[in-house]
Amino acid sequence: MVHLHPLKCKNCGAYCFIEFLGVSFRDPEDKKGFGLKIPFFICKECDSRESIIPERKFETFKNDTLPIVNEGEFFDIPLKVLFPKLDSEKRFKEYDQLDFQYDSMDYYLIPGLYREEDDGYLTPVFFDKDLLLYYNGHPDYSVKFTSFSSCNIYYKGEPLFSWGFGINRNGLLFKWLGDLDEDFSGDDMRSHLRRFQASNVTSDHDVLSKFYLSQNPFTVEDAFQDSDNESCLFNLINKFNSQVSEKFGVELTKVDISQLAEYYKPPIMEEREQVFAAFLSLNKYLIENLQEQSLRELLLKVGLTDDDLKKDGRKLGSMKLFQLFIEKVLSKVDADKKVAPFFVLNDLRQLHGHLSGNSFEDRYNSCKKRLGLENTASDIQVFEALVKSLIQLYEDLTGEKNE
Ligand SMILES: [Zn+2]
Repeated sequence: MVHLHPLKCKNCGAYCFIEFLGVSFRDPEDKKGFGLKIPFFICKECDSRESIIPERKFETFKNDTLPIVNEGEFFDIPLKVLFPKLDSEKRFKEYDQLDFQYDSMDYYLIPGLYREEDDGYLTPVFFDKDLLLYYNGHPDYSVKFTSFSSCNIYYKGEPLFSWGFGINRNGLLFKWLGDLDEDFSGDDMRSHLRRFQASNVTSDHDVLSKFYLSQNPFTVEDAFQDSDNESCLFNLINKFNSQVSEKFGVELTKVDISQLAEYYKPPIMEEREQVFAAFLSLNKYLIENLQEQSLRELLLKVGLTDDDLKKDGRKLGSMKLFQLFIEKVLSKVDADKKVAPFFVLNDLRQLHGHLSGNSFEDRYNSCKKRLGLENTASDIQVFEALVKSLIQLYEDLTGEKNE
């Protein structure tokens, strides 16, 4: 039998969210009762819910409590009356000097965080993503995303924090309370601590990310998470370029992609200028960086003529040459479908110059549609979908499939 990760919906297998819902317990005549805010696993895919605490515990409490409630009385009971540890106000004393807000219930409710020593080490502390803007813009610091849901801050190329950060499904950054304590132990970290305190936000009880799954693995796959973002894409492109260079003796790109990746600035916030600046960079690295001359030589070698490499008397551009290369040299079927993400990327790059133009919305919606997205998709969602489709292209080209 395959065991399901405890956060997964028993109905459809999607990862649940944790939410607190008010539940009322009343006597059969509905003349008295009480209410409790109970934590549930909520599945947003199939709309199902399951109490995190076994329901029989509430039944017992109800049976013990209702007889002593007076008729006509209805009141709310804090959860901590039943379970003293489930108290948002509870603090883990040894971390008080950090002065962060957090919800200690997360430590007890999110699967995999509680330890027998009950020290609160793995309590998530949440931060607004704007925290990263300072570091991304500072010449001595940089922010690198190892996946869409994990990142770290670097100081002159060295990681500033031992384990980096997770990014949850609502786009909040988080880090474990105990790790924060270790990372902020030095006096030289004081100014950083103040910055983090200023961006510290209330818990939304979600930690689902590669960061969480790889540190609290439930399966072997959880422990060895593949990257899913630009880092993964750059690695795949590198791999593909070496394969081509080994097999055909030509360099596909003008500049080594790993060199370019050093300067790459990922979009951090849901902010149009940042996201479109990243499209511009990706277009530069992936498309403008292609060696048209190498592609032409390879295509001529497999029997195409100069005329084949022209359209209406003009030389074909790098994207069309790349498509032909995939079809004629690598003998892949559906080359046009495969390179479609290149054309979307190039359209997005062109849109960068027309962010406030009249035709922007229509042209942007066409890009979204080609990425399988609705018109309502946000800029970051478009970015993620584009990177995923480019990863698929290069997985196909390198013969490496993650799934
Ligand atoms: Zn479900």
